[in-house]
Amino acid sequence: MNIHEYQGKEILRKYGVKVPNGYVAYTVDEAVEAAEKLGTSVTVVKAQIHAGGRGKAGGVKVAKNLDEVRTYANEILGKTLVTHQTGPEGKEVKRLLIEEGCDIQKEYYVGVVLERATSRVVLMASEEGGTEIEEVAAETPEKIFKEVIDPVVGLLPYQARRLAFNINIPDELNSKAVKFMMGLYQAFVEKDCSIAEINPLVTTGDGEVLALDAKLNFDDNALYRQKDVTEYRDLDEEDEKEIEASKFDLSYVALDGNIGCMVNGAGLAMSTMDIIKHTGGEPANFLDVGGGATAEKVTEAFKIILSDKNVKGIFVNIFGGIMKCDVIAEGVVAATKEVGLDLPLVVRLEGTNVDLGKKILNDSGLNIIPADSMADGAEKIVSLVKGA
Ligand code: ADP
Ligand code: MG
Repeated sequence: MNIHEYQGKEILRKYGVKVPNGYVAYTVDEAVEAAEKLGTSVTVVKAQIHAGGRGKAGGVKVAKNLDEVRTYANEILGKTLVTHQTGPEGKEVKRLLIEEGCDIQKEYYVGVVLERATSRVVLMASEEGGTEIEEVAAETPEKIFKEVIDPVVGLLPYQARRLAFNINIPDELNSKAVKFMMGLYQAFVEKDCSIAEINPLVTTGDGEVLALDAKLNFDDNALYRQKDVTEYRDLDEEDEKEIEASKFDLSYVALDGNIGCMVNGAGLAMSTMDIIKHTGGEPANFLDVGGGATAEKVTEAFKIILSDKNVKGIFVNIFGGIMKCDVIAEGVVAATKEVGLDLPLVVRLEGTNVDLGKKILNDSGLNIIPADSMADGAEKIVSLVKGA
């Protein structure tokens, strides 16, 4: 799960990570009010969307007086911001962060991530702040420093000190940087984050170390024990089809192709997407209905796939292990009848009770195209969709 920058800053503040003062605003009037309350000579108006790259896209503006705050708030609120992280369709801005302007001396990067190679949490930093870390990694990898954290003892002060030293934070600010990093790591662990990225961390003219941006991502599997975090969820920022799918415990990710996929098992779902691509098609989604899918769940899955207007055909690829093929076949038939499918539907079944499953599909009188193998199914759906 993702949250907004201002929410991330609220969390970080509780862990002793310094952030500029600021208020969230939903309207232009609220934005001006917030700026009045801050009473600073420079105020920054920041679009709040679940994506980075806002600065370059015109979503971060520095205002020198209240009139400018009004102008910028007017300009940004309601605007569809297209950044390299939003995709070409962009995201509509519905909230602003009105924040105290900082006298930035230098921008740095600090991030806490889980490193798969070492199975450890890693604190990563660079003096190339404000730029995408991926870009730094590609162009000047020697400017990225890492501290691998032992899960038993956690981040140790000397590691944070060494990191601050390596990225050339001025010596007199080293202890503040250490406090910052220790707090960031603590927040990452206690809040079950998957990413806690501060880009930029800045040093200021008055000798502070601040988080100017905050990107916190949370592990969905831990949300049950992070009630305060789930309250930050902003459904406006999420794909409607994905929200619907999560209600039925279906793992669904929207993609931009035109072949809807219904599969059981994440691994099979991935290889189904691969084989569609391999055959020259484009999957419209990743969908894992899970091992114990019922006819109702299959019906819901169908509805979600069909609510995507780009979908021109569906490929059902099921391996009946725990799940029996006849149950899936019944679900497919029931769903097809209920939602009145008029798109090509290719079904490949394998595994427990496969013959019974195939018989149910054959006897249904519905226009379901059976496939003998995954490759056969992929070829059939791709050519049907291309022919359509
Ligand atoms: P994004 O990463 O989405 O572009 P940031 O929050 O990192 O958004 O802001 C982009 C840039 O805007 C920062 O690198 C910084 O230079 C400037 N900026 C952001 N917030 C402030 C602030 N409160 N005061 C001064 N400059 C800011
Ligand atoms: Mg940033």
